[in-house]
Amino acid sequence: VVKLASNENPLGPPDGAREAMREAVDSMEFYPDNSGHALVQAIARKFDWAPEGITLAAGSNEIFYLLCDVFGGPGVEVVVGETGFISYRIAAILSGATVVATAMPGLVHDLDAMLGAITERTRLVFLPNPNNPTGTALPVAEVEAFARALPDHVVFCYDEAYAEYDEAALDVAGLIKDGVKVMATRTFSKIYALAGLRIGYSLSNPALADLLNRVRPPFNTSSMAQRAAIAALRDEAFVQRSCLVNERGRRQLEDGLRSLGYPPFGTHGNFLLMEVEDGEAVSHKLLQKGVIVRPLGGYGLPRMVRVSIGLEAQNARFLEALKAC
Ligand code: PMP
Repeated sequence: VVKLASNENPLGPPDGAREAMREAVDSMEFYPDNSGHALVQAIARKFDWAPEGITLAAGSNEIFYLLCDVFGGPGVEVVVGETGFISYRIAAILSGATVVATAMPGLVHDLDAMLGAITERTRLVFLPNPNNPTGTALPVAEVEAFARALPDHVVFCYDEAYAEYDEAALDVAGLIKDGVKVMATRTFSKIYALAGLRIGYSLSNPALADLLNRVRPPFNTSSMAQRAAIAALRDEAFVQRSCLVNERGRRQLEDGLRSLGYPPFGTHGNFLLMEVEDGEAVSHKLLQKGVIVRPLGGYGLPRMVRVSIGLEAQNARFLEALKAC
């Protein structure tokens, strides 16, 4: 079976992370370091960030839940894009907050519409850049202007799950220095190929990190995850190799899809979309041929199928199966 459904890195974890996991096995009787000190220090060094502003979580998903725990609740509005990553909505709804979803013409976040949707009741706004599942991204200059235009009572969560696949990064530190209430979330699930370990983090000012820390469950990140993440972070060559494999795979899939008559959509991250007549039916047929992809009916895109970029042979298997369908 070839799984191209969850935007995982097909190379698998970097060698150093594998080794760190093996070593961690021998101390599993101990609870993890609740503060994740060593990993926090490693992230702090990498981003030149104050350790007090770093929050570790069981995947960046957990950060969204912590944020909604702190700022959500009945009477609160949370602004998201209509076909933005779905987790924000779920976390907001579970907190009792009201989700305000703005239209995304061309499947791109409309920052003016998001600004226009902000009221006195808004406490949180989420923006993934690049976005999953659409594979679209906004120029960081536009995001920066958006962040600066937000009123003071709104916290801006900028989700950078796929940031390592893209060149340009938002100057989150500069914004925070200027008093903007923004936090960036990142993950080891994507380019670092550790999705199964559940480890992610946020970069914010210490005050916001302190609030998240008050609702964070104890020992929310495992010692194995902390150790593997430290090793992964060190391996910059692995990140570069992953980007290269991804770019090659993207070209292979784009060419293949075009020649089959399905113009690909989405140019960011480690996945792309194709438009078919019935996404659910095509995905089911592919499944019967041993290829797992993601139909996007749940996102209100019943004609779209998302396919993660795999290794050359996996991409070829997918294209072959699609042709046979
Ligand atoms: N943000 C985006 C845009 C994603 O696509 C994903 C994973 N699909 C996540 C966040 C969450 O990833 P994790 O919880 O594994 O860090």
